Amino acid sequence: MPIHDRPSPNHGPRPDGAAVDILVLHYTGMVSAQAALDRLCDEAAQVSAHYLVEEDGTVWRLVAEDRRAWHAGRGAWGHVRDVNSRSIGVEIVNPGHEFGYRPFPAAQMRAVTDLCRDILGRWPIPPGNVIAHSDMAPDRKRDPGELFDWQALARAGVGLWPRTGDGAHFGGPPAVETVVAPLLSRLGYDLDGVGVAQALTAFQRHWHPDALGKPADTETIRRLNDLIAQTDVANSTAGLAGSRE
Ligand SMILES: [Zn+2]
Repeated sequence: MPIHDRPSPNHGPRPDGAAVDILVLHYTGMVSAQAALDRLCDEAAQVSAHYLVEEDGTVWRLVAEDRRAWHAGRGAWGHVRDVNSRSIGVEIVNPGHEFGYRPFPAAQMRAVTDLCRDILGRWPIPPGNVIAHSDMAPDRKRDPGELFDWQALARAGVGLWPRTGDGAHFGGPPAVETVVAPLLSRLGYDLDGVGVAQALTAFQRHWHPDALGKPADTETIRRLNDLIAQTDVANSTAGLAGSRE
């Protein structure tokens, strides 16, 4: 896959000993790819990402992977609070919810998939740590949003998607504070300072888009438990058992 270089000045060293074990996907949320590239390379803006993927599949490298890019901001995933230090950030061109949110074209999804597979080949990023910006900052971010095809990405070996259930649904709506919140937290959502409702919405955008905006139900619980089980298996296979606690 050809990658074009457009170096951004906005990066710094990764702290000593910081492992790269998170991959954060974003949308640009700007009117054009050019506007996003310009901003991510503008020293005054103080933002960047490692890569930007245009709608036609063109890939730009803005920051070298061994450097700390400035894409994540305030938020957390699992026990990690300084997400920039431990992550690779990929910006995917889309106007976003503010400027006309639209589906991600097939050529763009192919490029994102190839790029992510290459990144996962270079760094020990567990599948449960391939996340949306909204997953680590549910109180202020919606990207890349509910139109992003996480299921296809997972099918290609990038990230997790809930396995199909047996169709059995029992019981009434689950208690959000006592049942849903602990599961969201186990999956990686940081509920300190973020409302459970906000984390649930972020979860729906990523792993249950058909239910976006609806109350948690038994399918929510099934998907959460399934993703946690997949995460545990992946971590123990990689010798990472307990690393998310
Ligand atoms: Zn973002």
